[in-house]
Amino acid sequence: NKFEQLGLNESLLKAISDLGFETPSEVQEKAIPLLLEDDTDIVALAQTGTGKTAAFGFPLIQKIDPFNKQTQVLILSPTRELCLQITNEIKLYSKYIDGLYTVAVYGGASIHDQARDIKRGAQVIVATPGRMQDMINRGMVNIKNISICVLDEADEMLNMGFYEDITSILSDTPKDKNTWLFSATMPQEVARIAKEFMRNPQEITV
Ligand code: AMP
Repeated sequence: NKFEQLGLNESLLKAISDLGFETPSEVQEKAIPLLLEDDTDIVALAQTGTGKTAAFGFPLIQKIDPFNKQTQVLILSPTRELCLQITNEIKLYSKYIDGLYTVAVYGGASIHDQARDIKRGAQVIVATPGRMQDMINRGMVNIKNISICVLDEADEMLNMGFYEDITSILSDTPKDKNTWLFSATMPQEVARIAKEFMRNPQEITV
């Protein structure tokens, strides 16, 4: 099994096998070994449907400490639908890891329910930028100790006008975290975020 050669652990390999994934996709083959390393920032040019959710999902799951109940990973994504999709995938991939919790945070649903779910000890938050900023403003969430921030479909988020929210959210995270940016295209605004908020990112294209 080629997923073993990428450096993934037994819990993940078991979940991957349950899902029937046999071969890593191109973005997975390129990104997973890099993201499993200690201190990698990455800019990945990849479209939807290429398996990019698993490309960032597997490594971030492997890096989480399930005994630590603080938020460790923040994933920003443009829409409620995508937040829910990513959340579902992360839950499937992490099903053999006891104590690992993922919460989806998006507008149009109760902010208090979402805040309560986070407080129960979610290590992973998958959020739309607008709702995330709202929760930060209300003191409902603490992202000052995260170690990884994923920006998924960065071009879409910027197209939707989330530049201010994204930069403000990133400013609220530790400087020494790692940032993993995924985008189908590389317009100037995306390049600007990478330049201002990322540390020496490796670039991959599929
Ligand atoms: P994404 O590009 O992340 O939206 O993924 C597209 C779809 O491909 C999702 O339904 C995944 O569950 C599935 N998928 C991801 N990686 C693989 C793989 N290596 N083999 C088979 N299916 C996969």
